[in-house]
Amino acid sequence: MRPIKKLLIANRGEIALRIHRACHEMGIKTVAVHSTADADAMHVRLADEAICIGPPSATDSYLNVANIISAAEISGADAIHPGYGFLSENAQFAEIVELHGILFVGPKPEHIRTMGDKVEAKRTAGALGLPLVPGSAGAIANLDEAKCVAAEIGYPVLIKAASGGGGRGMKVVPNEDQLETLMAQAGSEARNAFGDATVYMEKYLGNPRHIEFQVFGDGNGHAIHLGERDCSLQRRHQKVLEEAPSPILPAAERDRMGGVVAKAMADMGYRGAGTIEFLWEAGDFYFIEMNTRLQVEHPVTEMITGIDLVREQIRVAEGCPLSVRQEDVRFTGHAIECRINAEDPRTFAPSPGKVAQFHAPGGMHVRVDSGLYAGYKVPPYYDSMIAKLIVYGTTRERCIARLRRALEEFVIEGMKTTIPLHRALIEDPEFQRGEYTIKWLEEWLAEER
Ligand code: ADP
Repeated sequence: MRPIKKLLIANRGEIALRIHRACHEMGIKTVAVHSTADADAMHVRLADEAICIGPPSATDSYLNVANIISAAEISGADAIHPGYGFLSENAQFAEIVELHGILFVGPKPEHIRTMGDKVEAKRTAGALGLPLVPGSAGAIANLDEAKCVAAEIGYPVLIKAASGGGGRGMKVVPNEDQLETLMAQAGSEARNAFGDATVYMEKYLGNPRHIEFQVFGDGNGHAIHLGERDCSLQRRHQKVLEEAPSPILPAAERDRMGGVVAKAMADMGYRGAGTIEFLWEAGDFYFIEMNTRLQVEHPVTEMITGIDLVREQIRVAEGCPLSVRQEDVRFTGHAIECRINAEDPRTFAPSPGKVAQFHAPGGMHVRVDSGLYAGYKVPPYYDSMIAKLIVYGTTRERCIARLRRALEEFVIEGMKTTIPLHRALIEDPEFQRGEYTIKWLEEWLAEER
């Protein structure tokens, strides 16, 4: 047991606030780091200490390992929480943090490394007994091999980048004629984005749902699952709205698959929070990847389980056992999260600017995670997500009714946001019936226009 007294938050925006809040409730002091563009940000204002780590560009600030480690040493922080994005899935960063005698609030570096390489992740997942999407056993070396695998699994196939993320380096190949061109494109896209041209192949599933499981391990062979989230509402492979539980997954399937993933994490000796992502089609699960960090959409799980995931992450990093046993985890009601971006709700063009008016909705079971305030200037350098609205209801129907009311109340003026998109989306009868797959939102958007 190594109690944390002061924690450095290596992130910005709403997730930096989220971590700060958990820390203060636990009596832990916080150190914010920020770029020059973020000097007035809410995470800087609320933290006990703040250190500037570089110019606006993320490469020089939030990804600047040397400056972040120096900030931790200067402030005397005994732990670092990386949030999501930035350095959260950088195994080398986790190693460097630990080499400096600082606790890394996250998984063991070797698990971050394994799951960060998608080919290796699939191999590991298969060995741990998770169901895989049919495809190449590992990386695809050349066109002949690609042809053989594709013939075996059948077209259409999907070429994916081993170091992929955010949907980049992914190509759907409809038939053998286009294999050569599209494989070359995927490879060069992957090299440009990730510095690694390695690709692999999967069966392209026609119309699946994206269902992911939240897992938690103590690092000593004990692990639990906290149920699933349905993140099928996506645009360009980016999640837009998430809910828990999935509107279509039978409870018995949650228990069965949850048991499988928890056992896999226990066998692996996994430490901390993780998410195992699956595609779900015709009643079957197919593993696609594991994220070895806290997810943007973690609050919907918190809403239906009552478990504070950041508190749990910190406790595990301190060396405490998990605070709940699987049999104590109770799933009650329904929760939905809307990601609100500073973007034009029709064209999705970024719309950073100065917040003229800000009024967050409130009331029972309404949560807003956001660093916005009136007068704040949203900088153009980072992700466009400016707020998350998370709403709970005893049933999905009541949750949607409350979400409608909360979206009506929400005022952000001074820039375009995706609030109108969410207002329209939740009125769709198919959404209301929970009948949607990963393709649904893009088709809906095309019709709306
Ligand atoms: P990334 O790390 O780039 O986000 P993922 O493997 O998580 O890549 O996939 C992102 C999204 O791409 C999924 O949520 C799904 O919408 C789509 N996708 C991935 N694999 C497949 C597949 N085999 N068939 C159909 N769609 C897929």
